[in-house]
Amino acid sequence: MRFAIPLFVVLFLLAAIALSTGRETARLAPPSALGAPAPAPALSGGAAPQAEASPPATPAPAAPAFAPAPAGQRPYVPILMYHYVRTVDPGVDPLGYGLSVTPAQLAAQLDWLRRAGYDTVQMSALAGCIRGESPCPARAVALTFDDGYMDAYTDAFPLLQQYGVTATFYIVSGFVGHDAYMGWGEIRALRDAGMEIGAHSISHIDLTTLSHDENVDQIGRSGAEIAAQLGAPVRSFCYPAGQFNAEIAAITRERGYTSATTTIQQGPQDDPFALPRLRIYGDMSQDGFQATVAAYLP
Ligand SMILES: [Zn+2]
Repeated sequence: MRFAIPLFVVLFLLAAIALSTGRETARLAPPSALGAPAPAPALSGGAAPQAEASPPATPAPAAPAFAPAPAGQRPYVPILMYHYVRTVDPGVDPLGYGLSVTPAQLAAQLDWLRRAGYDTVQMSALAGCIRGESPCPARAVALTFDDGYMDAYTDAFPLLQQYGVTATFYIVSGFVGHDAYMGWGEIRALRDAGMEIGAHSISHIDLTTLSHDENVDQIGRSGAEIAAQLGAPVRSFCYPAGQFNAEIAAITRERGYTSATTTIQQGPQDDPFALPRLRIYGDMSQDGFQATVAAYLP
């Protein structure tokens, strides 16, 4: 009996150390950053609120990696723009059809990207490359999904995981949890699986119609709310409907983001706050998709 108490104490301490180490490891797992700079104070989030139910546990993969380009080289990175991943009848909803790819189309596109040797890169990592702060990928595309629709979680996410690729999801903070939109649980599950979560304003309004103060609110507060919900900084912004001007770009930079994407179809990637994207639409053939990507990055 003389040793019973010390042994119990030792076991208790070992268990406590194991528990705290596990927690620390989980907390340190990078959600998205690939050598990204320190979080900007304007968008830093506090601890994730505990009130909401957690999504089913998702194994946290290592941070997605890409093969780096030789030092000093910055190959073009096609940024692909997706909205819905769903099946739409073009006769019933021609507009929705144009904004959608089917799960089968996305699967074929991801399969080809992998087989053709393209890496995928998140927007914060691409911004780091463009800003000269971190390595550039040798041969990569960036996948972006706009608006935070529920099918990003139910249809796009499983395919991204199946093909081992990463993406950036732009969330409209005021739409979270609304009908057909993801809730914070789904968004956290994406983040926990290593996807990047960016901001896409509070209400998806045309920012060029707003005052300076209204834009500070739409741009700054959307990212701050997402950061608070995720407990991690938000670095990437997407202009609603691609509408922006020099003042809006300046506000985006001042609020601590490192990049912003547009709906401009073609152009250089020199300005991280006016990045063009290639729209991937419903009636794009597989050959058309491959030709679109390969035209920018053979
Ligand atoms: Zn949008």
